[in-house]
Amino acid sequence: MPQMILLTGSGISADSGLDTFRSSGGQSLWALYDPDIVCNYEVWEENFELVHEFYSKRRVELAGVEPNAAHKMAAEWQKRYGAELITQNVDDLFERAGARDVVHVHGRLTGLRCLSCEAQWDWGYRPFNPAEHRCPNCGGLHEVKPDVVFFGESAPLYQRLWERLDSLSHEDLLMVIGTSGNVLPIAGIARHTRAVTILSNLEPEPTIPERYFDHVIHGRAAELAPQLDELVKKILD
Ligand SMILES: [Zn+2]
Repeated sequence: MPQMILLTGSGISADSGLDTFRSSGGQSLWALYDPDIVCNYEVWEENFELVHEFYSKRRVELAGVEPNAAHKMAAEWQKRYGAELITQNVDDLFERAGARDVVHVHGRLTGLRCLSCEAQWDWGYRPFNPAEHRCPNCGGLHEVKPDVVFFGESAPLYQRLWERLDSLSHEDLLMVIGTSGNVLPIAGIARHTRAVTILSNLEPEPTIPERYFDHVIHGRAAELAPQLDELVKKILD
C-alpha cells in the first residue's frame, strides 16, 4: 500500500482562528510580545516570567479554538491510508480532530519540560505560574520551559522527518499544507522526493518555487479539504 505523508504548517490552523507568527497584527499575541525575546533559546531564561506569560496566554487562546475541516480531513486520511502527520504546528488541533501519533517537529504548546532533569509532561491549557508551579520530577523552577522549539534551539524530530521523506517511493504521496517555507526547506524537499507531491497554500510563497510540485492548489485549507481529498483519492485509490 502506498504511503502518504502530510507535512503541515501554521496556515492550516490559521483557518481555525489561531494567529500565526507571520500574519500577526493588532491584538495578536505575536504583536504584543517580541518573538525575539519570548521564543529565543539564547535569552529565554533571562526573560523567564515573560516567556511563561506569553505561552500561558497562547494555551488559553488554543483552548478557545476548534479544529477545522482540514484537520478533520487529515485525521480521515490517517484512518484511510495510514497517513503520517508531521507538523510544524505546536497546537493540538489534529489530535482534537481525531488524529493519533502526530509528529510535532517544533514541540507542543500543551506540554512543559525541564532542561535540568529532562522530564516532559502534559500541562493542558493551564497558565504556568512561576510563583506556584515546579518541575514534578526534580522540583526545579528556572529550567521549566514550554515544550516548544525556540529560535536557536535544536529540533531533534527533524531527523525523523528526513528519514520518513527518504523512505518515500514514486508510488507514495507527499502533501504539504499551509507552510511558508521560511523554516523548513520546502522547495528542496519537493525537488528531491521521489513521491508524488501536492502543495496547498493560501497563495504563492516567494520561498517556494511551485514548479517543483506535481499539483498546486491555492486557497484556505479548510475550504479546500474536499478538493484535496478528490486529488488524494485519484492518486492513492
Ligand atoms: Zn526537573
